[in-house]
Amino acid sequence: MGMERINRKSLLYRSGLGFFGINHVQGCSHGCRYPCYAFMMAKHYGRVRDACDWRRPRLVGNALALLERELNGKFRAVRSVHLCLTTDPFMVGYPEVGALSLEIVELLNRHDVTCSLLTKGILPIALADRSRFGADNDHGISLASLDEDFRRRWEPGAAPYAERIAALRRLHEAGCRTHVHIEPYPTPNIIEQDLSPLLEAVSFVDHLFWGRWNYNASVTAVHSANTFYRAQAQIVRRFCRQRRIDCEIGSIG
Ligand code: SF4
Repeated sequence: MGMERINRKSLLYRSGLGFFGINHVQGCSHGCRYPCYAFMMAKHYGRVRDACDWRRPRLVGNALALLERELNGKFRAVRSVHLCLTTDPFMVGYPEVGALSLEIVELLNRHDVTCSLLTKGILPIALADRSRFGADNDHGISLASLDEDFRRRWEPGAAPYAERIAALRRLHEAGCRTHVHIEPYPTPNIIEQDLSPLLEAVSFVDHLFWGRWNYNASVTAVHSANTFYRAQAQIVRRFCRQRRIDCEIGSIG
């Protein structure tokens, strides 16, 4: 039995962060518990009932037709698009999601629109196929830890960390541009971890974003959190300088 499908009236949109995005799935089986901001918004606006409903993803069945129309119409000037802000383009256990994501990237590239991809799943090596995709796409994974117990607790449905990194490395070795999104970075009361092995594991990337944990009382209630984050940010900056990685630090508070 295939995935549930829904139809939408529009697909491409300008996000509150200023860039263009596409979310061709409603919900996400990864079920992150940081909590997931996208889930909180979907619940607030009545698009999903609860966490269980959120973890039952629905594919946007008319996504390709909508996108073709929008790229030839009011969004013809758009030159870059992010996948995804409110779902995951390579959702674990849902090959239909990954297949549609690839079709969307292909369609965007055919219209000279570059893509930035971010996943907690496995980036397929097919993205390196130059007969299908342009050379300027940016391929990224989210990675807040290397500890699988942490992943099982906070990102229960997402791909194991080692597999995420291996897939990203394969794309890097195939000549693709890569980035890592280290967020939400946990404070020591959530997990004691050393930042250095985490940075080493992704030292091949072109771009690194690092950011604190928000929306969680276990973190925000800790008085020393800001001091901790400032010290960790220094480690990230130094590492990126030494390895010549393009570095971006989120707001520390
Ligand atoms: S992968 Fe992203 S969209 Fe999916 S549950 Fe986790 S935070 Fe939310």
